[in-house]
Amino acid sequence: NEELLVNSEKLYVAGQLAAGIAHEIRNPLTSLKGFLQLIASGRKNNGTYYDIMNSELDRIEDIVSELLMLSKPQVYQLSYHDLRVMMRDTVTLLETQAILHNIMIEAEYGTEPLWIYGVENQVKQVFINVIKNAIEAMIDGGAIRIKLTRQLDTVSVRFQDEGPGIDEEHLAKIGQPFYTTKEKGTGLGLMVSYKIVDNHQGRIQVKSEIGQGTLFEVILPYRYPEEVRKSS
Ligand code: ADP
Ligand code: MG
Repeated sequence: NEELLVNSEKLYVAGQLAAGIAHEIRNPLTSLKGFLQLIASGRKNNGTYYDIMNSELDRIEDIVSELLMLSKPQVYQLSYHDLRVMMRDTVTLLETQAILHNIMIEAEYGTEPLWIYGVENQVKQVFINVIKNAIEAMIDGGAIRIKLTRQLDTVSVRFQDEGPGIDEEHLAKIGQPFYTTKEKGTGLGLMVSYKIVDNHQGRIQVKSEIGQGTLFEVILPYRYPEEVRKSS
């Protein structure tokens, strides 16, 4: 029946993900082992080995910390948040990094509170992932324009960058586990972001064209605190 099908599909996805994780972690582990053997064999020049070993360990650490975002938090702290406050915190957090890359972050917050109901750190993580990708895409600097708006029963955050854009073929692949075009990428940021937004009954839309920059839009349900108090 349908439930069984859904379950076997979930198992299949979990299996694919496990295979991908195992593969991505085995590579740096194999190279770490190789360098340990070189060091044990008593060759000189250990300094360069340590640098590479360190960056391989960084890679494992990156992969594991992004995957941890997928696991359920021990305590769900679902609460009401104003997206404008969350976005201000996120922009403050990333501003130095942006300036270092010659990038301006311009945000339009609007005039009314934009309430959502959710896990603060997870939603912030989505914003961080999208802005970091924009910073990493704009190798010659430029502007990231962020706009927060409210519709009838949703709130939306648009992130427009001035990067190189993504062609149709690659656009279909973003968000797939381990899909990355970066030498030091994990290819997990967007997969985790899609999953978080999905858990919040929201969605992410992407529009991009080569030479036109990329637009990420995160849409979440608008949840005014009083609505719930009234109905309960
Ligand atoms: P990572 O950043 O580790 O590569 P992500 O899941 O965050 O993994 O992104 C996957 C890929 O999507 C990136 O490697 C890049 O090719 C593409 N991408 C994401 N955001 C942008 C953007 N704003 N502009 C251009 N390409 C992007
Ligand atoms: Mg990323």
